[in-house]
Amino acid sequence: MLRRPRWWSRTLGAALIGGLVLSLLSLGPAPQARAADCRRGHIALTFDDGPSHHTPSVLDALRRRGVPATFFVVGQRVRSRPSLVRRQHREGHAVANHTYRHERLTSLSDSRIRSTVGATHRAIREAGAPPVRAVRPPYGATSSRVRRVLRDAGYAHVLWTVDPQDWRGYSSSTIARHVTARLAPGAIILLHDGGSTTPKTVGALPRIIDTARARGYCFGLIDGRGRVVAPTPPAPATPPPPPPVQVAPAQEVSRLAGADRYATAVAVSQAGWPQGAEAAVLATGQDYPDALAASVLAGAVDGPLLLSTQDRLLPAVAAELARLGVERVFVIGAISETVDEALRSLGVHTRGVRGRDRYETAVRVAGQVAGAGTEGVYLVTGEGFADALAVGSVAAGQGWPILLTPARGHPLLPTWIDALGAERVVVVGGTSAVSDAALEGLIDVEVERIAGADRTATAVAVAQVARGRGYGADPLVVSGTTFADGLAGGVLAARWQRPLLLTGGDRLAPQVHAWINDEGSERVTVLGGQAVISEGVVCQLRTGYDRPDACD
Ligand code: ZN
Repeated sequence: MLRRPRWWSRTLGAALIGGLVLSLLSLGPAPQARAADCRRGHIALTFDDGPSHHTPSVLDALRRRGVPATFFVVGQRVRSRPSLVRRQHREGHAVANHTYRHERLTSLSDSRIRSTVGATHRAIREAGAPPVRAVRPPYGATSSRVRRVLRDAGYAHVLWTVDPQDWRGYSSSTIARHVTARLAPGAIILLHDGGSTTPKTVGALPRIIDTARARGYCFGLIDGRGRVVAPTPPAPATPPPPPPVQVAPAQEVSRLAGADRYATAVAVSQAGWPQGAEAAVLATGQDYPDALAASVLAGAVDGPLLLSTQDRLLPAVAAELARLGVERVFVIGAISETVDEALRSLGVHTRGVRGRDRYETAVRVAGQVAGAGTEGVYLVTGEGFADALAVGSVAAGQGWPILLTPARGHPLLPTWIDALGAERVVVVGGTSAVSDAALEGLIDVEVERIAGADRTATAVAVAQVARGRGYGADPLVVSGTTFADGLAGGVLAARWQRPLLLTGGDRLAPQVHAWINDEGSERVTVLGGQAVISEGVVCQLRTGYDRPDACD
């Protein structure tokens, strides 16, 4: 009886040593539970100020050692690099909130605090990661008021316990030494992945991780209550269903529509230019490619964008031009000269703006808009319309032309941009719409990209830019699956200084509900008839239900 336990314990000891040797020999990241026994509990590595082009090196270093971390991201950086946030989530890290523009929260009003944090929350979600409801105030600048506003908005307030000040450019060994000297149960370690000093931080990670593990610590994540918790095991093969969408009804929902797209454009014109206009833009309502860039020209001449069939001036359109009292009409792209003639017979001056294809038509329109030159241009795909619709309102308000490119690029793109004198190119849409290769020839200009996970998320990202330019919170909502109403609506949205959002026609895009909820929108205007946006969608807006059939 006495010998058997001893034999067992010897065998067990040998097995343990064997296991240890095996785990030391095994290549690749050892699962955390085997690498350390967690006898001193969990500590958290946290990275502020990303995502940036340094973030992949941080993720690579963490992956090599199988360590999870919490990234406190800056919302506008999330908008430029959403795929890095998706990668953070995919590799088991937590993504939390570091405000939209890295603002000092102590100098913001209560409502501005809520809006910068809300915009960041939304950016993370729309990038494709579940946002952790935890906020780290930039610069650690906080107060009892900041804490209260965050708490009331449902966010945990998170600072740190260990700060090696890696952003000062200290060597990797100095950073590692500072951190390892201060490890304690529940420690929250502040590091940065947003700046030029990040390579030194990356260099410190192996020593920090190995030392902490050797002392019995495991690495955890910051949760929505601001605590350091053990990471949940990796998600099963099929991802869990998304959390229920937070919904909010809009107080006032109206629909602006005619019997068809031509009549809807007339209704938009009547609503936006009740006193008339000196000029108008006429684009085809039959196919989108030639019409995409036209909204900016309408914005530039401060007139409506009306739609025409390709070879006939519709009576309703002629009547609206007469009501407006226009003197000039710009006729865009694939509309036949017959229409120009019909216009001239009404005593209206016409100017045809036509290129050999959609790309050249956009360039010609840009020439009309920019005149002596422009600070920047928006660049969207010419192979779909959603991104051009999304940017129409902001571009028209800003007076920046919209240029088109095929996804793989256009050989003349650098020439066009150079001729317009643009110094900035803002790409709207993901890399499947406009590839990075398409931008390679643009060397003397500043290039940035606005993109979400899909067309509705991209429209939200653009709407956020519009908000930053002083647009209101109350959106115009158009169909993202048909082009005509959104085209005419973009100019109206610019005139009313309201953002334009896209939705599905049969079901409200959840991003629209989230926008109304987060921005506190009171009024929503739906553009287009029931054939384009169903009554179910309007009802969803009115009631806040996340399903159209709940409205019956
Ligand atoms: Zn920061």
